[in-house]
Amino acid sequence: MSVDTPRGQRGGDLPAQAGTTLPDLLTEAAFDDHHPPSPELVADCVHCGFCLPGCPTYALWGEEMDSPRGRIYLMQQGNEGEPMSASMVRHIDNCLGCMACVTACPSGVQYDKLIEATRQQVERRGSGHRPLRDRVLRAAIFALFPHPGRLRLLRGPLALYQRSGLSRLVRRSGVLERISPTLATMEAVAPPVERQVRIPPFMPARGERRMTVGLLLGCVQREFYPGVNAATVRVLNLEGCDVVTPPGQGCCGALSVHSGREREGPDYARALIDTFTETGVERIIVNSAGCGSTMKDYAHLLADDPDYAERARDFAARVRDISEVLVELGPVARRHPLPVTVAYHDACHLSHAQRVRSQPRQLLGQVPGLTVREVAEGDMCCGSAGIYNLTHPEPARELGDRKAANVAATQADLLVTSNPGCLLQITDALARRGRHIATAHLVLVLDASLRGKDPDALLRGAEKASPRSAAATGAGCACGSGGCG
Ligand code: SF4
Ligand code: SF4
Repeated sequence: MSVDTPRGQRGGDLPAQAGTTLPDLLTEAAFDDHHPPSPELVADCVHCGFCLPGCPTYALWGEEMDSPRGRIYLMQQGNEGEPMSASMVRHIDNCLGCMACVTACPSGVQYDKLIEATRQQVERRGSGHRPLRDRVLRAAIFALFPHPGRLRLLRGPLALYQRSGLSRLVRRSGVLERISPTLATMEAVAPPVERQVRIPPFMPARGERRMTVGLLLGCVQREFYPGVNAATVRVLNLEGCDVVTPPGQGCCGALSVHSGREREGPDYARALIDTFTETGVERIIVNSAGCGSTMKDYAHLLADDPDYAERARDFAARVRDISEVLVELGPVARRHPLPVTVAYHDACHLSHAQRVRSQPRQLLGQVPGLTVREVAEGDMCCGSAGIYNLTHPEPARELGDRKAANVAATQADLLVTSNPGCLLQITDALARRGRHIATAHLVLVLDASLRGKDPDALLRGAEKASPRSAAATGAGCACGSGGCG
């Protein structure tokens, strides 16, 4: 598989894989000595099994090797010289990377570090064990998703497809399901094409300036949820932040890092650090949980790079989820009442990977009239998990259905979360269930309260954000005036 790096190819010190044959794969030790999963971290696991009930794949299949403990055992086998097998690759690929096991583990096992190192080995040394279809799919995903410019090219054709009614016809026919569950999933979760929003490079605070922050635009967020970025800027401005949005930002590398693509991930990280250099921002704000967890880990990702190690530490120390910085600042702008009942879904990369759980609830609790309901099995992944719902559509769908049932049981008017992938996945699962609950990113709710929007408009706007609707959300411009879009 070719590796498309954004700039400055720095992976030249990786062991070469060209010419690896199937017999090699079957006899060579699974891991080489380039960053194998740390034997010390593997040894931290005492095999107690406390992590098993919260693991989505163990919950689905009850298979030890699809549990955190089983996967750590496979890593130990790899470290002891066992060859990489198709079954090892499958069990590692089956992991959603949700990190529920990290928060569940009483022994502090750093499964996040272990799975990241193992995935790099699998990607470099074991991808030949994957079916051809899977390899082609992964190549296609990485040729598209980390590239906002390429995603932008999809907007026109996708809008035409959605607005022409063809989308409804295709869905009713079930033809995609028969051809490929992955294609059917892509079609079902494809977000409606919103009006594009231009975020100015600098948006000043309203009233007294309290902080200068930078904003990550994201890839999918920028092209398919521009209203969320616009709302993020408005909320930050109203809470006294100057917002700097450096133009020319690329991908943060989250998808690549989580998939073990060890050349791409660090290159994206270096490019993003360069983009924010000289901006002088005190915090770098992220409104997508998966991106935030990766950016907070840049110090680890670039630890071996003498040119970037220190800059990565400085950058990572300034990264905050939008909910963290708003709680840190404390509210100054007036909250208008929103009499709606909200079910809050914890995105795994916010709650498990970043341990950000209380802040979104605190912010929702500051909105007069708003009621928050907890979702049963709240620690369980919804099945989105980066690219998991594309590479593993069937189990992702089962997890989505399970999440939708738990959300529906809350009887809430609105499902709120902080990650675009979760929004797409849960919205589609709720629609499949035939149960209408509007869905929205957390900042859209805060924005509606700060601007005194009619709660019905919020629910209607959220409804329009459903991938099952082709209508555009009225996200408007970043400043709210209507003039900058
Ligand atoms: S990862 Fe932690 S919780 Fe799971 S079996 Fe090992 S020690 Fe126990
Ligand atoms: S990251 Fe999630 S899916 Fe993977 S082993 Fe841990 S709990 Fe299971």
